[in-house]
Amino acid sequence: MLVCSSFAVCQTQPSNQPNYLDRLNSMISAGHGVWTPEQIATMQRLRDTAMRDPYALEELRHLTDNIGPRLSGSPQAQQAVEWVAAEMRALGADVTLEKAMVPHWVRGTETGELVSWPGQAPGTTQKVVLTALGGSVATPADGLTAEVVVVPDFDALRALPEGAVKGKILVFNHPFDKELAAVGNGGAAYGNGVVYRGLAPIAGAAVGAVAVLVRSVGGADFRLPHTGLTIYRPEVAKIPAAAVTSEDADLLAHLAAQGPVRMHLTLTTQTLPDAQSYNVIADWKGTEHPEQVVIVSGHLDSWDLATGAIDDGAGVAVSMQAIHLLKELGIHPRRTVRFVAWMAEEEGSQGAAAYVADHKQQMADHIGALESDLGAGHPTGIAYAGKPELGQWLRPVAHVLDGIGAPLLEGSGETGEDISGLTAGGVPSFAPIQDSRFYFNYHHTAADTFDKVNPKELNENAAIMAVLAYALADSPAPAPR
Ligand SMILES: [Zn+2]
Repeated sequence: MLVCSSFAVCQTQPSNQPNYLDRLNSMISAGHGVWTPEQIATMQRLRDTAMRDPYALEELRHLTDNIGPRLSGSPQAQQAVEWVAAEMRALGADVTLEKAMVPHWVRGTETGELVSWPGQAPGTTQKVVLTALGGSVATPADGLTAEVVVVPDFDALRALPEGAVKGKILVFNHPFDKELAAVGNGGAAYGNGVVYRGLAPIAGAAVGAVAVLVRSVGGADFRLPHTGLTIYRPEVAKIPAAAVTSEDADLLAHLAAQGPVRMHLTLTTQTLPDAQSYNVIADWKGTEHPEQVVIVSGHLDSWDLATGAIDDGAGVAVSMQAIHLLKELGIHPRRTVRFVAWMAEEEGSQGAAAYVADHKQQMADHIGALESDLGAGHPTGIAYAGKPELGQWLRPVAHVLDGIGAPLLEGSGETGEDISGLTAGGVPSFAPIQDSRFYFNYHHTAADTFDKVNPKELNENAAIMAVLAYALADSPAPAPR
């Protein structure tokens, strides 16, 4: 039976289990937790300013339209490093460029065409839309021609008779699970497919294939191939690797089921010596504990097929906005807020690895790390990795973010690739929970361009980064770890 004087103090009969009303009460009496009412008001101000300030969008537009694709080792990646550093200096942040040696891979030309198949009109060929996977070795300059063998997965490959793939082009036709993505599990759908993109050349070389093709790991049906990193092992022969579109994967599977299909494949990729590049570090110095840092970050490099707007120009832009808002609003937290634009996430996270190696001795002074690297879709809250009590600790912050539809707090093993080394080192880490339903339609394709970013949703992500960075940097005691 309920005993209510006001909603906030509604009580039920004594019970050991929190009931529905207990849970509601705990939500409306979220309070300010470890933060003062003034600090909560500062969070609200950061949130509201982020929602109307055009800085993040303008910075993203320059990064994508003016600088362009930012493949690690490329002139555009270097231009982006210098430009972001200058922008951060202009805000009065303390900027350093920290060196990292990064891959320098160049795509070249990439073509595929069927040269014989069942039902072919004499003298014709049929185009196959494909793109080289990142890090792929080249075919001979005039290409190679071989029969294709199509399998849906690794199990089917193992079930083939010995020698069935020798001298042939092996095709992994593993579909992207669009239904999984449609209900908000884009990351899981991607993870299921990406093992084929990553491991196909090793699996193919082991059975004597001369090249390997994978069905694109993405959700769109616009005959767009999705690139991404592939992996070689030193002890296994390196064979050329490309992604075909989902439509072309279906075509290959359909024709190969009818009889022999031969294909001509040309990839003129080049792997140049590793290049020197940089993580851009910009510190907004703490007033009480400048040595203690909270990282707010995204990765500056992108694939080369487009301008890397959602992956991950948006993450860089919303992180830049955190520093910009601290300056605009004259906020100086106790601890240092450290903006980081990571280099070479797409090609193996060499920038992040260099950071962890260079800052090993300062792990205890890393109070928290944020990364945005799942686009710029509407965020519904914060994912955190670390102690379970972080969830309760962040409740007042979630309450502030409820104002933009982002009240969720979810424990997660993964927050961001570039901050995974920090997470492993015991640093509490965080990421906006972003809408992933459509992200993999564009990610790593020629369609990852500025127009894909919704300005309001970008600002919501900026609000999360700014509010959370401030909350971590200004709490009386550091976040639980
Ligand atoms: Zn990314």
